[in-house]
Parts: sequence; C-alpha cells; structure tokens
Amino acid sequence: MKACPECDSDRQYRYEKTLSAQGGYGPDMLPKLGAGMFKSATFVPVVCADCGFMRFFASADARGRLEGSKKWTRA
Ligand SMILES: [Zn+2]
Repeated sequence: MKACPECDSDRQYRYEKTLSAQGGYGPDMLPKLGAGMFKSATFVPVVCADCGFMRFFASADARGRLEGSKKWTRA
C-alpha cells in the first residue's frame, strides 16, 4: 500500500473483509461486476489513520470481470 495521497502518511488501514458495493448508502458503486445476476460486486475500504482520507478498491473478484464486460470500457 502506498502512502496516503492527501497527507503522505504510511498509517493506512485496510478492512479485513470485502464489503458489498450495493446497499443502503447509495447506488451500486460497481454495476455489473458481481458474481451473478443478483450478487453485487465487492470492494475493500482503506482509511488513513492520520487524516481520515478514505479510498475504496474493487475486489480482485470484481476487477477480474472488467475486461470481459460490455458495460465497462477502458478509459
Ligand atoms: Zn492521510
């Protein structure tokens, strides 16, 4: 894990599990990258212990579906 992009701290904490990208907090963050029609993709949150900056990384499982997806285009 690289240093925090906001404050350059190396005190980054990654949550131990992946979380669902769909839920009560807003729209689906990673549409069409779930394991099946009714499963949403998962992500891993990372928080900086010094400034609180939060980052979210798509799980390896979700990233593995990007290249075969017709809904996601390479930017
Ligand atoms: Zn920070």
